[in-house]
Amino acid sequence: MTNTNLESPEPRSQEAHAPSNFLREQIAEDVRTKKYGDAVIQTRFPPEPNGYLHIGHAKAICISFGLADEFGGKTNLRFDDTNPEKEEQEYVDNIQKDIHWLGFDWERLCFASDYFPQLYDWAVQLIEAGKAYVDDLSADEIRQYRGTLTEPGENSPFRDRSIEENLDLFQRMKNGEFPDGSRVLRAKIDMASPNLNMRDPVMYRILHATHHRTGDKWCIYPMYDYAHGQSDSIEHVTHSMCSLEFADHQPLYRWFIEQLGIFPSQQIEFDRLNFTYIVLSKRKLLQLVQERRVSGWDDPRMPTLSGLRRRGFTAEAIRAVVTSLGASRTNVVQDIEMLEHFQRDDLNHRSRRAMAVLNPLKLVIDNYPAGQEEFVEVANNPEDSSAGTRQVPFSREIYIEQDDFREVPPPKYYRLSPGKEVRLRNAYFVTAQSVVKDAAGNVIEVHCTYDPASRGGNSPDGRKVKSTIHWVSSAHAISAEIRLYDKLFTKRDPYDVAEGEDVLSNLNPNSLEILTGAKLEPSLASAKPEDRFQFERVGYFCVDRDSSQGKLVFNRTLSLKDSWAKIEKKSGA
Ligand code: ATP
Ligand code: MG
Repeated sequence: MTNTNLESPEPRSQEAHAPSNFLREQIAEDVRTKKYGDAVIQTRFPPEPNGYLHIGHAKAICISFGLADEFGGKTNLRFDDTNPEKEEQEYVDNIQKDIHWLGFDWERLCFASDYFPQLYDWAVQLIEAGKAYVDDLSADEIRQYRGTLTEPGENSPFRDRSIEENLDLFQRMKNGEFPDGSRVLRAKIDMASPNLNMRDPVMYRILHATHHRTGDKWCIYPMYDYAHGQSDSIEHVTHSMCSLEFADHQPLYRWFIEQLGIFPSQQIEFDRLNFTYIVLSKRKLLQLVQERRVSGWDDPRMPTLSGLRRRGFTAEAIRAVVTSLGASRTNVVQDIEMLEHFQRDDLNHRSRRAMAVLNPLKLVIDNYPAGQEEFVEVANNPEDSSAGTRQVPFSREIYIEQDDFREVPPPKYYRLSPGKEVRLRNAYFVTAQSVVKDAAGNVIEVHCTYDPASRGGNSPDGRKVKSTIHWVSSAHAISAEIRLYDKLFTKRDPYDVAEGEDVLSNLNPNSLEILTGAKLEPSLASAKPEDRFQFERVGYFCVDRDSSQGKLVFNRTLSLKDSWAKIEKKSGA
């Protein structure tokens, strides 16, 4: 996207309901005062390729890409790949896939590792200026010398090495002469600073590890704080937006840039997105994958973008939630029901309807001619007339949900029971007459009669029925596996655990239920992975990639019930 309108402080385009937020205001102000002269607004999204992207990253992506776009600017995707032990090409590939899926594209694909030579030269420059030194203290000793929030730190005994000795040692660190952990390069700032990040932070560590891009070329690696701001500066990032936990690092971010006299990128922090009932720590998500508590990073119960996608969530709904929340300077945990509400709303408008019986019970219509079939016309999406209609086969034997029949109906049970009449959706009125039971006494078949005059679902005499149930013609039905998901954690705050217990002790043992005998209307036979449907009266479903020819697998995205609407009502919103 080219920049044509830097004169105007107003964003060029805004997402439909983008609430105003301080990030947008800051950028608008910087454009107005020409803080960066005629340079375009440049942002970046800087994931570390040590896991898959999650819903929290969606917020950072929407902010960095979205705001740059609004102001006619550009966004780089930069992999922050300074930690070779935890990083992998698989993550690099899937992060790109997920950003594209979310609806964004980057100006340039960058890697912090591409800047290793420049970062090294700048480190040498800082040593030459007396602003950095090689320290032989161990990691533990460095921690002890650092002091605490209330106690100042102490200078390392190696702090006053000569520039020559520092240059020599740093070069030999790079050349691989020393073992891991034996030495580090530190910035010489202030061991008494009230900000612990400014107490001579480590810039480089020795690590004889193979990097997924630079191989064995390097055995010293820059720390995040030393790499991040300078990488921004190299790319002329004007607004480096990141989540709040980096606020305490901002003075250090500025310090390096000022000492080096390089392009003055500025960091601005915003609140982290989080929801109830989920964990977003990549360490925990990795643990779930490694311990096989889930089937992988894209398990439909995971809060990753790939998991949400596989579950049936849409990029539009995720962007809408993130946009509606805006940005602030306070971390708030949002109700997961809010995300679900946005998703239901989106799916309600876009998904084709279909009839599917998850737990089938055979219903035989005794007065319907054996061997006859007919087709009833059904709207594909009552919310969208352009979605058209389809013909659904009807015959003498159909499946209904086990839940839609009770031999002995409890009070207020209006569905099918002996002697009661209900509507078969889009078809006929039927009245249950008798049941067939197995040896154990379970109802395995219900016999009924239908009223031929009620075709289409209304009786000419104006007779009313209290309920409408869905059905699938048994001769035409296709079978499918249905995976029903529940929350992965049982607690609103999964981190609410007894002392010494791990968050995984709050895992929900019943988060996945597999139904193998579901019966679906035949139009679903041609459904493809990621196709989404509303199964009438049941919920939103999406075809899983485990499906194969003749064996469909559906994931339940969400049930139809919307508990967010209730929560909002209660809170008076
Ligand atoms: P880790 O759990 O390892 O700290 P991370 O989730 O912070 O990782 P990064 O790859 O460092 O992952 O994040 C990339 C960018 O996404 C950062 O700029 C970070 O600020 C932002 N980000 C990460 N999590 C959230 C979140 N929950 N809400 C908003 N932004 C986030
Ligand atoms: Mg992080």
